[in-house]
Amino acid sequence: MEFTLQENLNIRVGVIDQFEELIEWSQMQYHDLPWRYERSLYGTLVSEIMLQQTTVGTVISHFERFMNKFPTIHKLANAKEKDVQQAWRGLGYYRRAKNLHRAAQVISSKHQGNIPENFKDLIKIPGIGEYTANALISIGHRKRALAIDANIERVISRVFGYETIKGPQNQKQIYQDFTRKKILDIEVNYRALNEAIMDLGRTYCQARKASCELCPLSSVCKTKKAGNPLDYPREFQAKEKKKLKNLHLLRVLVKNEKGVLLFRRPKNKWLEDQYELPTFALGKERRTDQYPQLRFYKNYKKLPQFKTHITDHKISNFVLATKDDQIIDCKANYKYVPMSELENENISTATLKALERLQQ
Ligand code: SF4
Repeated sequence: MEFTLQENLNIRVGVIDQFEELIEWSQMQYHDLPWRYERSLYGTLVSEIMLQQTTVGTVISHFERFMNKFPTIHKLANAKEKDVQQAWRGLGYYRRAKNLHRAAQVISSKHQGNIPENFKDLIKIPGIGEYTANALISIGHRKRALAIDANIERVISRVFGYETIKGPQNQKQIYQDFTRKKILDIEVNYRALNEAIMDLGRTYCQARKASCELCPLSSVCKTKKAGNPLDYPREFQAKEKKKLKNLHLLRVLVKNEKGVLLFRRPKNKWLEDQYELPTFALGKERRTDQYPQLRFYKNYKKLPQFKTHITDHKISNFVLATKDDQIIDCKANYKYVPMSELENENISTATLKALERLQQ
């Protein structure tokens, strides 16, 4: 991204004060998040992986429980996979628990439990991607780095008026400009800066609502000045936007004296190794290779239902409760689990929702 000399000067002078004000605001408001008031590199690793794709509110209620169970990186590294998955329950996206566990094992065995300080070493650790590496450098080690998640991408795009289309390309552009010191070339505490921008993106600078009048950056924000912050980060025009496909799934709750019938998701498939209710794609119009097709089940629209959403699919889940497992072709990968032992299994979020839905 190019700025004129004068723009650069204005941005630099204004930005230093305003970003310091932003940091002050963030530290006043959010210093007591559990992973902030007692800092450790290991805590940063755990919280940053938990916070990907999960709201702060949900992470708050899980972080301390997880840390009490696995208080050190060695404890986590030596834990059984099943116990890690169980401690992750309620956070969803279980692949992250696997990644965290794998990263802890490698840090414990190859780095004597010390989390490396540089990008090159961090990125070689399985389970640590670019975002987590930059979060560990900035938030963990307090060095100059920018952990670009959706919140940081949105705030930076709005403050500096990035015209690149939202997503990997825009994030790469921001990252390049940051490393070349075209943006945010300021002397600040980079831990505090990253956290403050994340806090702003979560609160005043949301995707569909920008409360610019309350925002500490409003006097240096390019798109606020232009009056169009919600147009940033730039998106594809509606006609180019991918349309979400509708998918109807039938989730069958077979519950009898043996327990609940669960299906273990196969290796190398979506939700690998998680247990879920036997699930079928309904109707003939939409095919999916994740679930067998069940064309002829009628009247399913009268069943209790709940909605979920995955990548390019909007999913209506219909839940059928029965005692009879004859309606399922039970072969490999199915097992009964007594109700009292359900919480010991690695159960998919959709299955938990289906059980909840039937209790309502
Ligand atoms: S001024 Fe408005 S658009 Fe700019 S960063 Fe603040 S909330 Fe976002």
